[in-house]
Amino acid sequence: MSEKLLIIDEGTTSTRAMLFAPDGTCLGSESADLTQHYPSPGLVEHDAAEIWDRTFACARKMVELAGGAEAVAAIGITNQRETVVFWDKQTGEPLAPAIVWQDRRTASWCRELKEAGHEPTVQARTGLLLDPYFSGSKIGWAMANWPQLKAAGDRLAVGTIDSWLVWKLTATEGRGGLHITDATNASRTALMAIGSGHWDDGLIELFDAPRHALPEIVDCAGNYGTTSLFGAPIPICGMAGDQQAATIGQACLTPGDTKATFGTGAFVLTQYGAHQPTSKNRLLATVAWQLAGRRAYALEGSVFVAGSLIQWLRDSLKLIAAADETEALARSVADNAGVYLVPALSGLGAPWWEAEARGCMSGLSFTATRAHIVRAALEAMAHQANDLKTAFAADGADWTTLRIDGGMVANVWIAQDLADMLEVEVERPVFAETTALGAAMLAGVGIGLFKDLKAASAMRGKLDAFHSTLAADARQTRLDGWASAVKSVIAAAH
Ligand code: ADP
Repeated sequence: MSEKLLIIDEGTTSTRAMLFAPDGTCLGSESADLTQHYPSPGLVEHDAAEIWDRTFACARKMVELAGGAEAVAAIGITNQRETVVFWDKQTGEPLAPAIVWQDRRTASWCRELKEAGHEPTVQARTGLLLDPYFSGSKIGWAMANWPQLKAAGDRLAVGTIDSWLVWKLTATEGRGGLHITDATNASRTALMAIGSGHWDDGLIELFDAPRHALPEIVDCAGNYGTTSLFGAPIPICGMAGDQQAATIGQACLTPGDTKATFGTGAFVLTQYGAHQPTSKNRLLATVAWQLAGRRAYALEGSVFVAGSLIQWLRDSLKLIAAADETEALARSVADNAGVYLVPALSGLGAPWWEAEARGCMSGLSFTATRAHIVRAALEAMAHQANDLKTAFAADGADWTTLRIDGGMVANVWIAQDLADMLEVEVERPVFAETTALGAAMLAGVGIGLFKDLKAASAMRGKLDAFHSTLAADARQTRLDGWASAVKSVIAAAH
């Protein structure tokens, strides 16, 4: 039997396919950029047809590399979460743009719902807060504003990106595909009761979502169905949202284990075990995975702007030509010269949840150079993570070690700064694609290559470690400078 695992890792800025051996060796990878559509400030859309076309092209390359579909044991899927796709079950074509997780079009509606007192119920049922980030309000908005969706009647299908990809993979000529979503993706919609793993009628009513068009919620590993698009049938056996997949890929299997992914945004998840957490500090409770109908939970802190700040420095401010220049620039100066950059470019996420806050650069003097501004941008990563650490500790989840990954942690300066500011050991896997690795672990469990996630976690390889070396007074100066910058950003939003 073939043992190669084909992983689809559909992200925000790019989509990719990777091929893994069961020992965790990455045999190949193919990626394609995705077009970002910004119709007006605060709005972010993707073209679901483009996502499918580019994802399929990448996957086909990896099947070729494997030596054909017969050589692939199973497919695992991981994806950008919360982004919603609307499609026609008959034609399999999108009916509207995909509304991306970063999109803020429902900020005022969410605020009204909050003011009407709905947040405690939403939090108790879903583990989430009332914020435009989650899919529910995006779906309700689309139903109210895009008449073609209501007009589609029973032909309408709604789902997150995992649902969309599985549908496209399993649809055949004249027959629709499988309409499923896994419990981790469903837990980010604000429509699923996280304690039961089922859609919640009260939430569906609150957000005015079309119940009939929602997918069936399934486990993160299993044999869901096969795709015949690659020449021979390949079973689809693993599914999880990207942050949950990274949590698994970082082997955060024991309560307290914590990972932080620094990609477009930054997302910290602490494994919580079988009991649903309740945050008193504006963190999120979420499903870490669901296997054999049983859910493991995680506490999550979601930061909206991380790597996208570096992209903004590059593309909009033109301060740098490439992201990897930031490391040498940060090292070229002794400190931030008093400059702080609060990257609230699309509001502030956890633990502040200020959808209408906007970014600021403070402490500018004639001493400040391009290098100081870049350094302040990189420092914002550890500062945001430290705000989360405080909130997690207050919720009873103190971190002892932080397992980091994502595109930004190629930057060693950031890894060291995290160790310095958080005062915990920071572990960075040598193979940084932990999201894809987590999906490979799930697919391996689903097809029976591994008996459980613990056995699958042998796929995680060697690590680098970073320890704090920063003097206490220098650390305190940074913490104070950041705290006052954040305070002014929040004050300006009110
Ligand atoms: P995503 O999966 O969210 O699309 P990735 O994990 O691929 O994102 O990370 C890409 C992000 O990392 C980009 O926003 C980029 O600006 C940032 N990035 C990449 N390399 C570096 C670097 N050396 N230093 C700082 N940021 C970086």
